[in-house]
Amino acid sequence: MCSTPRSILVRCQIDETQKWHFVCPGSCWKSVSGGVEDARGLEDEHPHYRYGGMWKDRSADGPVSAKKPRKVKEKQKEEALNRSKSGIDSDQEETDKTS
Ligand SMILES: [Zn+2]
Repeated sequence: MCSTPRSILVRCQIDETQKWHFVCPGSCWKSVSGGVEDARGLEDEHPHYRYGGMWKDRSADGPVSAKKPRKVKEKQKEEALNRSKSGIDSDQEETDKTS
């Protein structure tokens, strides 16, 4: 609402259009919610207000999110390796017992 860049925003509905708006958790959010998370008891003042949670601005951690896919892939690779290793180990144990 005030166009101030924030890393954390509150998602909420503030009017009859029921569109989700992102407002900063400061004065803007207070002006639409009355400072109460779900505007309980303030239905007369904010009849259209609906709380939609705290949201993190993705642009704030752009470089971090760019690295994420690679990290996930590496982790999955490791997990797959561990799984195949343990599978081989148990097979060997079984053959050792039978022989
Ligand atoms: Zn604001």
